[in-house]
Amino acid sequence: MIAERGLRLSGPTPLPDAVRRAASRQMISHRSPGFREVVRDVTYRLKPVFGTGSWVLPFTASGTGGLEAAIVNAVDPGDPVLSLSAGFFGERFAEVARHHGAAVHSLNVPWGEALEPEMVREQLSRRRFAAVLVTHNETSTGVLNPVAEICRAIRAESDALVLIDAVSSAAAVPVELERWGADAAVGVTQKALMAPPGLALLAVGERLLRRSGSPGRGRFYFDLGRMVAAVEEGTTTYTPAISIVFALQAALDLIDEEGLEAVFGRHACLADLCRSGLAEIGCEPIASPSRRSPTVTAVRLPRGHSAPELRWVLERDHGLLVAQGRGKWKETVLRIGHMGYVDEEAIRHVIASFAAEVAGG
Ligand SMILES: *Cc1c(COP(=O)(O)O)cnc(C)c1O
Repeated sequence: MIAERGLRLSGPTPLPDAVRRAASRQMISHRSPGFREVVRDVTYRLKPVFGTGSWVLPFTASGTGGLEAAIVNAVDPGDPVLSLSAGFFGERFAEVARHHGAAVHSLNVPWGEALEPEMVREQLSRRRFAAVLVTHNETSTGVLNPVAEICRAIRAESDALVLIDAVSSAAAVPVELERWGADAAVGVTQKALMAPPGLALLAVGERLLRRSGSPGRGRFYFDLGRMVAAVEEGTTTYTPAISIVFALQAALDLIDEEGLEAVFGRHACLADLCRSGLAEIGCEPIASPSRRSPTVTAVRLPRGHSAPELRWVLERDHGLLVAQGRGKWKETVLRIGHMGYVDEEAIRHVIASFAAEVAGG
């Protein structure tokens, strides 16, 4: 069995006790005054997490459902869309747009590198796009993209809607929907928000709401207008994952108690500790120093080590569960999640376990 504190995936992340208790509460009617209070409270307290004064909409779905919700409200089939991708999740966002019939133009940087504002400028000055897709934190490579600068570059050249995948950054790294001039940011409960999987959180601004207009072709469950109207009444369009809403409320209590700024600071410190500890034993973080993610570290193993084998030994002998590299990185890369319910002791456990198996041999 995995030691409780050794769950170091990039999601789902460990649950604090108070969150587990909240998730096991008895059901109540999702239209009752009591539950409306909870929905109001949760959607209100999520606003600073996304840097918005507008709406944060809780759709019962995984993160990918949230990405689809953003796409189907922003884009019509045939619309030109610019996808900025730095890895697996950037590619998935583009895939969702493609499935919805968008004409997707992809700008891919090599895995391990970051998206930079200069490349965007060039693309946008040449043609018009209805929307631009940007990944904030690329979980597959451990890269944090400079989204503020990218958004500024987009806004300077274009009126395209800016849709941000903030799934593995929200509640660990500042997300500033309004300050960035972005139109949507997608988060989830099972990463830095310390709750079980079950809700996709879609932060949306006025511009996207206007663009999506009345209930349209190609969307029903994810229709934005109806969800905004519901949330304003303290409810959701359809039956939500009630237990996850309770759990999220308990997690927000913990975040508010610590303070959002302090939560960001803790993530930055622990990520630093994790990277320097692993680098010392020859496991170099892949991302360049200025683009390293505060929530997930991807390291290349020293020659002679197989990632699947090491991963298995770490789990069996150290109760430490980390994530494997994706795709072409399967054999050589391991990824350590350090977001949400994580402290210094948990990172020391990661470093000691790797040191025992890698340096000690
Ligand atoms: C985890 C993750 C997703 C997808 O989440 P699901 O809940 O599995 O659908 C999307 N984007 C990023 C950046 C992620 O880290």
